[in-house]
Amino acid sequence: MEKQAVQRAREAFLAGRSRPLEFRVQQLKSLQRMITDRQGEIATALKQDISRVIFNHTVLIGLENEISLAVSKLAQWAAPRHVERNLLTISDQAYIQPEPLGVVLIIGAWNYPWALTLQPLVGAIAAGNAAVLKPSELSEYSASLLKALLPRYLDQELYPVVCGGVSETQELLRQRFDHVFYTGNSTVGKLVMEAAARHLTPVTLELGGKSPCYIDKDVDLRVACRRITWGKFVNCGQTCIAPDYILCEPSIQNRVVEGIRQTLLEFYGPDPKSSPDYGRIINQRHFNRVMTLLEGYTATVGGQSDASQRYIAPTVVKDVPPQARLMQEEIFGPLLPIVTVSDIDDAIHFLNEREKPLALYVFSSNKKVIKRMLAETTSGGVTVNDVIMHYTLNSLPFGGVGQSGTGSYHGKHTFNQFSHHRACLVKSLGMEEVNVLRYPPQNHQKVLWALAGPLKDIQRLVPKLLLRRLGCVLRIAVLLEGEPSLWSRFSSRISLYFALH
Ligand code: NAD
Repeated sequence: MEKQAVQRAREAFLAGRSRPLEFRVQQLKSLQRMITDRQGEIATALKQDISRVIFNHTVLIGLENEISLAVSKLAQWAAPRHVERNLLTISDQAYIQPEPLGVVLIIGAWNYPWALTLQPLVGAIAAGNAAVLKPSELSEYSASLLKALLPRYLDQELYPVVCGGVSETQELLRQRFDHVFYTGNSTVGKLVMEAAARHLTPVTLELGGKSPCYIDKDVDLRVACRRITWGKFVNCGQTCIAPDYILCEPSIQNRVVEGIRQTLLEFYGPDPKSSPDYGRIINQRHFNRVMTLLEGYTATVGGQSDASQRYIAPTVVKDVPPQARLMQEEIFGPLLPIVTVSDIDDAIHFLNEREKPLALYVFSSNKKVIKRMLAETTSGGVTVNDVIMHYTLNSLPFGGVGQSGTGSYHGKHTFNQFSHHRACLVKSLGMEEVNVLRYPPQNHQKVLWALAGPLKDIQRLVPKLLLRRLGCVLRIAVLLEGEPSLWSRFSSRISLYFALH
């Protein structure tokens, strides 16, 4: 089944169907229509999968923006880009031509099941590829709906959807693709990379990790706490770039806790469990995993849970030691530990001792603090004085670094990720005298005569100043070689040339 889907996609790709720009635009517009027509069904599937109500609309708006950008910019993105030439290629054409990679595999994760499959698909279509989609089995309602809807809007052979779990994904990974784009945890990321390596297939790995949030003491704490509370608890903490933990000095820790407590009350009311804006943990396994992380701690805020609903209250834990279990793995749930550091040096040291994160957040009013944090740390992306928002700007490449991922996407970056940038040099059959330079047997006389011979052609194309410089270089070269007679023959030929023209 998986093998056949890949074969059909390859045949359709080789037939050239996905290449014409008009076809790509038409498919993208059709995808746009699917999102608009089926908004209601998509929202219901999301609610069934992850109890998400409000946020899904923003996700769909983000997708629509990606599609309109690709439609409006496609001709520009796909056009050849002419590059600088050297003296030997001055009359030729040299350019970079983006071209499709072939058949790509897109493996999505469950936490944003539509965005994480369709957003890469937009770039794959725009770049002229065939794409096999493998949505996560954990968001099963969204996966089945995607499988039912996509063939009604897009070319069925070029863009098949394969549903299933680990074994289906592994079967897909045994097939040969031209690129694998995977979103999910890093343990599976390693398996994906290993499987792709068997075919030397390049990969994009959109992974996760612990994204830190540093709060400087010189900051408007009310604003910082509102923004952090939103980014941490949206989708019940199951967002790859949610702030995973807070770093701050002990002197502001209690004010940070109070700020978050007040904001939670404002956002979700006194009982977040009954708030229509607060989500649930995806399944029992993840519920147990998150609850285990909390064992042994006293929550400063929240801490309540209800296994029957997979509900975990928005929870803050303060004074968490750096070596605690809560600080060893990505939380991916609504628990927010606070770790204290003595100053900015300590914070930078803390960050650099750990794996490179997917995102870093810095809250400060002090320009020097911001500058140091940006200059002395690294991460896939960074937002200063807010969280998550760098994700929403499709002019910025989104992706990780080191353990948090490889490759990036969004906007034109997705198009580039799914394109091969082919180096093209189209030479004319003229100026063969210059080529004598590189043909054996080699000797100085041949070099100089060869250069002087096509002077007429060269002078037409090269500014006089450049020609004089070339003459100087040659003169020095010849003098150094101790054969001034060659130079005098060459320069007399140049003089003769200028005298005649
Ligand atoms: P998941 O369980 O949905 O798995 C992702 C995909 O991997 C699924 O399609 C699944 O079928 C496949 N898979 C699972 N086990 C496999 C195996 N053994 N072999 C082959 N394929 C397998 O998602 P998840 O991994 O729980 O997702 C959460 C993680 O993803 C978090 O770490 C999060 O930070 C990260 N994430 C990253 C981004 C990003 O853009 N960087 C976005 C969302 C999630």
